[in-house]
Amino acid sequence: MAKLLIIEDEADIRELISFNLEMNGYEVQKARDGEEGLDLAKKSDYDLIILDLMLPGMDGLKVCSQLRKDANKKDIPIIMLTAKSEDEDIIKGLESGADDYITKPFSPRILVARVKSALRRSSHDVSDHEANRISIHDLVIDTARHEILLAGEPIILSATEFGILQFLAKNPGWVFSRNQIIDFVKGEDYPVTARSVDVQILGIRKKLGERGNIIETVRGIGYRMKGE
Ligand code: CA
Repeated sequence: MAKLLIIEDEADIRELISFNLEMNGYEVQKARDGEEGLDLAKKSDYDLIILDLMLPGMDGLKVCSQLRKDANKKDIPIIMLTAKSEDEDIIKGLESGADDYITKPFSPRILVARVKSALRRSSHDVSDHEANRISIHDLVIDTARHEILLAGEPIILSATEFGILQFLAKNPGWVFSRNQIIDFVKGEDYPVTARSVDVQILGIRKKLGERGNIIETVRGIGYRMKGE
């Protein structure tokens, strides 16, 4: 069950929102101002936050940017409530890191629908993200973003080097011939020949430093990523 946080100073609206969300099976916690909201958000993990823009003391924009600064909170979907449908408020809200906004007055049904779709989007993002990730040895390869972390530190590879490393890492323990490697990466940034596979592998090993030995040369055949 998704756990939601509502940060809204007006009691009537706060209750209206929480009533409707609870009716739809969500677990809801409530805060009356920005400070209380941030406090709750620190203590607990929420799947989504509904945040009023106009709050006494710290306003919704500040709360939103505070949440986005926190590495653990930066991906929580935030729906901002704005009193006026003025573009400037909406733009500021989105710039401060909100994912969506609803202008008051709103119908509870619309709110629930927006909450559902924001939750769907974020759970989708998570699974997509996982699917695009290969973790092996000390390496984390994000194939969607073309980023590689080695023991938590980013390393920079050319497109071809990236393609080869990704190919080997997807199949640890399996030996691939130079031709198989070429078939996989060809067209990335320039034509790859058998000889240039050797050069690319050399380059990758160099960039992996001490961990360069996770790519093994199999004499007479080709290369493989060491199994874990
Ligand atoms: Ca308010």
